[in-house]
Amino acid sequence: MGKVTMGVAVVGSAAVCAAAALIMRHRMRISNRCVTAADILKELEEKCATPASKLKQISDAMTVEMHAGLASEGGSKLKMLISYVDNLPTGEEQGVFYALDLGGTNFRVLRVQLTGKSSIECQEFAEVSIPPQLMVGDAETLFDYIAAELAKFVADESEKFQLLAGRQRELGFTFSFPVMQLSIDSGTLIRWTKGFSIEKMIGQDVVVHLAEAMKRQGVNMRVSALVNDTVGTLAGGRYGNKDVVAAVILGTGSNAAYVERAQAIPKWHGPPPKTGEMVINMEWGNFRSSHLPLTEYDNKLDSESLNPGEQIFEKMISGMYLGEILRRVLLRMAEDAALFGDTVPPKLKTQFILRTPEMSAMHHDTSPDLNVVGSKLKDVFDISDAPLPTRKIVVEICNIMATRGARLAAAGILGILKKTGRDTVRDGDIPDTVVAMDGGLYEHYTEYRHCLENTLHELLGDEVGKHVKLVLSTDGSGIGAALLAASHSQYV
Ligand code: ADP
Ligand code: MG
Repeated sequence: MGKVTMGVAVVGSAAVCAAAALIMRHRMRISNRCVTAADILKELEEKCATPASKLKQISDAMTVEMHAGLASEGGSKLKMLISYVDNLPTGEEQGVFYALDLGGTNFRVLRVQLTGKSSIECQEFAEVSIPPQLMVGDAETLFDYIAAELAKFVADESEKFQLLAGRQRELGFTFSFPVMQLSIDSGTLIRWTKGFSIEKMIGQDVVVHLAEAMKRQGVNMRVSALVNDTVGTLAGGRYGNKDVVAAVILGTGSNAAYVERAQAIPKWHGPPPKTGEMVINMEWGNFRSSHLPLTEYDNKLDSESLNPGEQIFEKMISGMYLGEILRRVLLRMAEDAALFGDTVPPKLKTQFILRTPEMSAMHHDTSPDLNVVGSKLKDVFDISDAPLPTRKIVVEICNIMATRGARLAAAGILGILKKTGRDTVRDGDIPDTVVAMDGGLYEHYTEYRHCLENTLHELLGDEVGKHVKLVLSTDGSGIGAALLAASHSQYV
């Protein structure tokens, strides 16, 4: 009897618990539904605000971290990697050289003929997208795929390229991930970023991997220079313009490199470079600071990413992530404020389904009915007939996220200018400063690019600002790698 009573009691309490949970959920739904999309938007705008005062604090924090990273290995979240490039191209480089540029989304192979007179006579290139399964597979498959494409490229070589008789082909390898450089033509992978994850390669020499794959695929080529894409872009930019002192990539990921005085690099124990300078690959994607305007969406994106806790700056500003942050905001609006009606469109829950080019297309929609926004919502999320006010909210979120990203990128550039003393008038002089820019985000996302340029000018003020230019250097990273292969050729 007692047992039965107990059983009833248990069942009874379970039922009560379930009912209570249901009521709680219902209340939460009701209370959440009191939140409107406008409330969420307002909160987002406040959390993402980047007034000039905050950007200056961020640029100061960047400068502090740059000092710390140069002082000692592991001294900062900024690795400030020594590139072994102490001699940027002079313009006198001559001959046929190749480059292979492995970014985050695509890789490019490229061939240039250098005239020895600061110009490139002809160039050919091929671009191949990287199948996503290869980014998380094994090293041999990835590198065999790349080397096979390289083999095809060499086989299709046109006659106008004149490789000198008896010479081996030479290649600059642009590898856009953090590498501990051991020399100009070797370096070990520190970690993967941007959706790549092939654990076994960490700590291994990436040039050895490429060289072995080339051998397997029958490509007779020597890797003369291993460069980060930022370093390649800097070299490519300098070839045509002596005022180029830094390079910034805004593509799938983000990073920067600049020319530093050798004396300002306490952790460099090698022979002093003849030029007195060394190119530093900052790996600024891994920058973080308490001043960064992080939101709940950033925190969740980070904790659910392949590299939690890492690349926080990159996750706020670069092409791989902007669309994904937008998706997360839209999902919250759908769940808590019924932005797309009573049911949450299932595709809104799929990570990375909304890419930044789509976000950019929606952001640039100038049609009165925001037709592009309507069709992207349909194509990407299967959301039909979103009314105009909803479409306007979507554009507004694009604007908030792109503005925050672009303004933070400008603060990063200001950090470099501060570190190199180019942010202010010194001894009555303002040096002309050019930053070479590359990457699909900077190249194609016009609103983002304009915002970045305007913000940098705003932060520097007119007098200094007019001496600082950002110059798009399309394919600079690949051309720069070919140039560095030339200056480090086995035949010079
Ligand atoms: P990677 O960084 O992989 O070397 P890219 O420099 O070509 O390659 O950059 C590609 C990235 O640029 C894409 O992943 C995307 O995030 C961004 N991107 C490309 N086209 C656009 C566009 N039209 N609008 C906004 N972002 C774009
Ligand atoms: Mg790239």
